[in-house]
This record gives sequence, C-alpha cells and structure tokens, in this order.
Amino acid sequence: MDPTPTQDRALRSHAGAARVAFNWGLSTLPVLGQIKLHEDVTARLVGARIRSATVRFERGRWNASFTVEQDVQRPRATKPGDVIGIDLGIKTLAVLSDGTEIPNLRHLGAALRKVRRAARTVSRRQGPDRRTGQRPSNRRRRASARLGGLHARVADVREDAIHKLTTSIARTYGAVVIEDLNVAGMTKNRRLARHVADASFAEIRRQLAYKIEWHGGTLIVADRWFASSKTCSECGAVRAKLTLSERTYVCDVCAMVMDRDVNAALNLAQYGRHELGIAASGAEIANGRGADRKTGLARQVAVKRQPGTASAGQTGTVPSQDGTAA
Ligand SMILES: [Zn+2]
Repeated sequence: MDPTPTQDRALRSHAGAARVAFNWGLSTLPVLGQIKLHEDVTARLVGARIRSATVRFERGRWNASFTVEQDVQRPRATKPGDVIGIDLGIKTLAVLSDGTEIPNLRHLGAALRKVRRAARTVSRRQGPDRRTGQRPSNRRRRASARLGGLHARVADVREDAIHKLTTSIARTYGAVVIEDLNVAGMTKNRRLARHVADASFAEIRRQLAYKIEWHGGTLIVADRWFASSKTCSECGAVRAKLTLSERTYVCDVCAMVMDRDVNAALNLAQYGRHELGIAASGAEIANGRGADRKTGLARQVAVKRQPGTASAGQTGTVPSQDGTAA
C-alpha cells in the first residue's frame, strides 16, 4: 500500500500506425498524428501522465507502448507467511510445492507444429541469393509473412500464460523459491519446444522478481547446484541417480513415493525456509506432513556437490537426448 508514483509499462497495443484517433482522449503522437488502438485503455490510464510512447513494427504487427507515471496500489501478498517452491518444466509449466500444477501453455504444442511446417514452406520457396542477385519470390515473401505471424502467436500465448502465473504467485505468497537455471545443460537440446521453454524460464524469473517486490514478498533463487529433484523431501537423502523418465520419486532410504516435480518443489520451499531461517511448517506441504522435519538437511547434503557433477537430474528441466525432458 504505497501510493508513490511508479514507472509502469502501462499497455501494449496492436494498432495500424496510419489509422486515426485515440479513443481515450489523449494527445496525439508526434509525427504520426492520431492512432487508433485495438485495445481500449481508457480505464487503465485514469490519472496517468504519459511520459513517452514507442511505436514499433514487430513480428508482422504494429505495437505501441506507452510509459506512464501513475499512482498504483499494490496490496500485500495474501499469504505473507507462506513459502512456496516452484519447479518449472516443459510438459507442465510449473508445479508448486502445495501440489498445484500449472499446465503448459495452452495451444502451444499445436502452434509450434504450425511454426515448423511454415518454416519448411519458406525454405522450399525461391530465396534471395547474393551471388546471383536472385530476389526472393513473392510466394516466399508470403510464406515468410505467415511464419512471422505464427511466431507472434506463439509469443503472445506464452506471454499471456507467464504473466498470469507470475501475477498470481506474487499476489499470494510472501516468499517464493525457484531454481537457478542450469544454463549449460539447457542449451544442449535444440528442439523448438526446448528453446521456447528456456526463454520462458528466464522470463518467469524476471517477472517474479519485480512482481514479488511490488507485493512486498521475497524471491529466493536456489543455489545452482542444489539437487532439487534428486533429494528426498521427506528425509533429505540424495539419490545418486534419477533418470528423466522417472516421473515418480521413490526414496531408497525412507521409502517415500511422490510425484517427481512436487518433490522438487517441496525441496525448493524447504531451501527457502532454511534461507529465511524459518522452521518447517506443514502449511503448504501437499501431503500435510508434520512440522517435525529437520530444516536444511537436504540443502547441506546437496550444496556440497561440486560444480560439474550435478548435470542430468539436478532439476526436472534438464533435457534428455530425445527431447522429452520434463
Ligand atoms: Zn527419503
């Protein structure tokens, strides 16, 4: 509840730059004159002062963004005492330590298939050739424009899902724990889905960082070598090996059986409580287990791993050879 002026990216609209009239009664843009926006932003701009505007042609569309100065009310997180762990994946966008699964971006798989097909079509058309001075054919130009549009669609779907996820998390939890990205491991797989997921992880983290701050929470990024997937969230034992095909974590020591991603998310939550110096509580634990667990045990075991030894299986996000990583 801090009504100090905040710089905020207020809107992003698709508009034909040459078309007419702001429908929200604000002044026109220099050079371009009046622009009609596809999105009605009147309500969002009440009491706002526009500082700058940028018009860009991106992925086959015109986008206008405005930077405004506006008093923004941002309520405290609704569960300020709760620590939530988030395991990010490909098949499932995210799994929370309370057991909530956020399914992957809807329609993304279908959109990616269309992108691949459109890209093949482009490559079959007569392209430009500098040596012969060959210009791209009109059919190639059309195919290329279509590919651009599909890329835009994928980006929009992804952006929307990620914003919804990060907003809801930031509004709810006082502390959020995510894993650091295994950058080396992640770039090995060249599949398109993999590529999109990589970009999503970075963006989710970026959004969480600023949104959590808005709502007075804390973002904790687990140590890069923290073995969130291989550690038993019940007893803290670390398994030597956990293949990506093992979707269920079975502990050799205490015989706990749990969904792989939920186990990883619980370990992250545990890590966060340890970082914050909070004793474990059963509040956000999926199975409602008791509050008598030892905090920090899993982390102590895991952190001693040497860089370079924690490759596959460190998280659910390490690619497998066939691209079916979780
Ligand atoms: Zn165990």
